[in-house]
Amino acid sequence: MEPTPREPAPYEPGQRPPGPAAPPEQPALFGWPDDDPVPSVPQPFRDSPRARRMLDVQEVYAERAALDSPRGRQIMARLPGVRVTEVESHWRIPSLHGNDGNVSRWVRVKTETLVLGVKHSLVTRPNGRSADWIAPGPSNGCAMACAYCYVPRRKGYANPITLFTNIEAIVSHVRRHVRAQGPKTTPNQCDAHSWVYDIGENGDCSVDALVCDNTADLVAAFRALPTAKASFATKFVNPDLLRLDPQGRTRVRFSLMPPDDARLLDIRTSPVAERISAAADFLDAGYEVHFNLSPVVLRPGWQRDWAELLVHLDDVLPERVKEQAAAEIIMLTHNEALHEVNLGWHPRAEEVLWQPAAQETKRSQNGALNVRYTPQVKQQSLARLRQLLTAHAPWLRIRYAF
Ligand code: SF4
Repeated sequence: MEPTPREPAPYEPGQRPPGPAAPPEQPALFGWPDDDPVPSVPQPFRDSPRARRMLDVQEVYAERAALDSPRGRQIMARLPGVRVTEVESHWRIPSLHGNDGNVSRWVRVKTETLVLGVKHSLVTRPNGRSADWIAPGPSNGCAMACAYCYVPRRKGYANPITLFTNIEAIVSHVRRHVRAQGPKTTPNQCDAHSWVYDIGENGDCSVDALVCDNTADLVAAFRALPTAKASFATKFVNPDLLRLDPQGRTRVRFSLMPPDDARLLDIRTSPVAERISAAADFLDAGYEVHFNLSPVVLRPGWQRDWAELLVHLDDVLPERVKEQAAAEIIMLTHNEALHEVNLGWHPRAEEVLWQPAAQETKRSQNGALNVRYTPQVKQQSLARLRQLLTAHAPWLRIRYAF
């Protein structure tokens, strides 16, 4: 039998997209003709077939104000011919979020649908665990489809990307907030010197960058804020981010879990090995690179598989990545409503996510019924994970475990 042809590697470590702008044209020296061949400029990743498999927008739901904004116009200019439906509010779209028929199209809706809205409530909230502050995010929703994702909990039956087009207002708000804090004088688990702002609480900034410049604008804003740092977790390797020139003011946190878990639970994400092999390039491009060991899902064999993952990290990461790396450990939290939705599109995931014998339920402030490992199970598992880290990746400082 003919072997199945493999897809070309989507991301070659060490391969760089061009810089932010082409150098100005110069006159030929001494009047000699410049007959060197013109180097071909690689296309941005977001125009590649692989990017289009992640996001191939066929329909847009949009608020009028979002369509009329400069960012909205820029986004729509890249989507010629796409059907647009005007909506009153990006938050509740009955034919999208309220349509239970969309559960069976869960992934398709994420691939083909985009929502544009204006974020009215610009609030920065204190955090103190992963970041000092949670900034108002530039998006809500995601084209990836992790089975445990908390973002859809209040979205109903669909969770495509909603992009907020009033990015200037978001950036101005964050700038004002940073300036109001003054310098950080007391080191903490978030960072020793800088105020850390999470800019991707409800989405994935790497995927947003396939369709708009919101991520680029925030990275550029933090470049000019010497007392603060942006931070976002990601499960997608987008080489276009390598040319944003963050100058150390943005921390990217690659989320990791054992590859077998990721194949079952991290639907549509970049393979774990690819996220790890991208770390050095992101560091060299000016990012701080941390890791999220999350979520930790307990199932038979979890200790062996996490040990293997840590050994792999230790084997492949260059010293310069290890020297600056730190990690967060986050145990799985699940949710009853999401469990019901998942049973409609990915029931196999629920076999490992939904473990009533080891979990307890807790009603959150917004009334949702969350499910998490009992304190005893959690405590023992975290202790075991710390032992594994000490044994296999002692260089990986734990910023916090939750
Ligand atoms: S990458 Fe993050 S935001 Fe996207 S589906 Fe997964 S957990 Fe949710």
